[in-house]
Amino acid sequence: HQKFKSDIEIALETPLLPIQQIANNHLDLKEEELELFGKYKAKISLDVLERLKEKEPGKLILVTSTNPTPAGEGKSTVTVGLAQALNKLNKKAIIAMREPSLGPTMGLKGGATGGGYSQVIPMDEINLHFTGDIHAITTANNALASFIDNHLHHGNYLNIDPRRIVWRRALDLNDRALRNITIGLGGPTNGIPREDHFDITVASEIMAVLCLASSLDNLRERLSRIVIGYTYSKDPVTVADLGVEGALTLLLKEAIKPNLVQTIEHTPALIHGGPFANIAHGCNSLLATKMATMLGDYVVTEAGFGADLGAEKFLNIKSRIGKLNPSAVVIVATIRALKMHGGLRKDQLQQENTDALIKGITNLKKHIETIKSFGLPYVVAINKFVSDTEAEITELLNWSDQEGHPAVLCEVWEHGGNGGVELAEKVLKIIEEGENSFQFLYKDEDSIEQKIFNIASKVYGATGVQFTNKAKKQIQEFEFLGWSNLPICMAKTQYSLTDDASVLGRPESFTITIRELKGSLGAGFIVALTGDIMTMPGLPSEPAALNMDVSVDGKATGLF
Ligand code: ADP
Repeated sequence: HQKFKSDIEIALETPLLPIQQIANNHLDLKEEELELFGKYKAKISLDVLERLKEKEPGKLILVTSTNPTPAGEGKSTVTVGLAQALNKLNKKAIIAMREPSLGPTMGLKGGATGGGYSQVIPMDEINLHFTGDIHAITTANNALASFIDNHLHHGNYLNIDPRRIVWRRALDLNDRALRNITIGLGGPTNGIPREDHFDITVASEIMAVLCLASSLDNLRERLSRIVIGYTYSKDPVTVADLGVEGALTLLLKEAIKPNLVQTIEHTPALIHGGPFANIAHGCNSLLATKMATMLGDYVVTEAGFGADLGAEKFLNIKSRIGKLNPSAVVIVATIRALKMHGGLRKDQLQQENTDALIKGITNLKKHIETIKSFGLPYVVAINKFVSDTEAEITELLNWSDQEGHPAVLCEVWEHGGNGGVELAEKVLKIIEEGENSFQFLYKDEDSIEQKIFNIASKVYGATGVQFTNKAKKQIQEFEFLGWSNLPICMAKTQYSLTDDASVLGRPESFTITIRELKGSLGAGFIVALTGDIMTMPGLPSEPAALNMDVSVDGKATGLF
């Protein structure tokens, strides 16, 4: 077996260009619009949005995938590789991606900056503290928690019911021991005792708020609308009621600016914001996406998990709020993952098995149908792993051919941009020639039930939706409060099209159960929870952290 270099090895041996050079060569930014953060990272001033507001926006390409499996799909890798390939074809391409969360990096993931020869760099810094945005969000989140407890302590004139506080504390780590805690112990000088909880920072509503804000002013407005809990008479209490939206906005005034870095081939990448794709919408900030469309002719962006979660929300929520018009969708599939959808275990993936592949293709097929129902042109990118056999690749390409789906073998992990030229050409072709009749899958004025039904039936392939009594009651309350015009953010397992993580492939004749709803008024959506959704992950028995270290000269090891 050939030995391949690890992601961090490749990243560290790549010479980086000073970030000003990336800005000058590719982006036509003015000197004062670039705020340097060391040599290879910079924040971009929001003034750019004003200066370029009349410019025709670049074409927006969304990268999504089949339902994720432990085999790995490679959305980030393909996102980076595709943009590099577009640059090889002399197109002015820019990436817009999410910031990695530190918790999963230390746990199973080991990094989220692409892989092989399609990575954004400096990958160690991007994966660790980067420019501090996530720390700022953690601080704003916990500042709000401290203001709430201080309010209770000093007389509680808003009449907040401590048992109905929905605002939770946050930390950007996987720390299961903090999921349920008791605070305020120690007597009258130490606050009011109550039960509290920690979420991972990327699950904080403030992350979703930052990612959907259109300006600093709009950020303040969204923050002020966040519901932190309910009074004894069950009326919602907001950040505006506490009067702290100004302080929270202040804490985020630098974090709201998109970050510029480069790829291994010096393609510019805006990396900004990273909300969870279950209880939030799972895409990088709207500001970074908008800015990228102003600065480049082609923007390659990604959304978390599979097309049933990330892409659905990118199209139904982010594009609605941000008035985005996507030009094309790339659906990433791997032979390994399709074989898992076809019934194989992870330890069986090394062996050729076209039967399992054909069985698992049904999962890909469903996601293709979903993208079609949004009216968007698409290409299937087969992210090639070295274990894929000729027979398997031919089988998948033949299937696509027979069914009339554009599909391309993509080798960007192994060969960088050169391995994605065919994919880039195909993407350019469908943008030019493909039919684009982009539409949302539900209207603002549809009822909450109708919106959820549309998503469940059109995107998951469910035959119906069940609502628990609790959910039914909440729908009535939300309608009474005037919240029912908001888009729906589905919180569902990423592994399955159903609400049961163990059901792979393409299940038929199933219903989805909505257990509970949550109003994310700041973000501007209603979260519909199916099953238990983990908002504070735990670490595995052998976390990636065990292999991490730093050499005497300061070089990272163990990130991948
Ligand atoms: P996603 O965005 O879908 O979570 P990533 O692009 O982050 O996936 O890739 C996850 C991991 O899989 C990374 O460590 C990456 O290096 C690896 N990977 C991706 N594509 C390939 C490939 N074609 N061959 C080998 N490893 C790959």
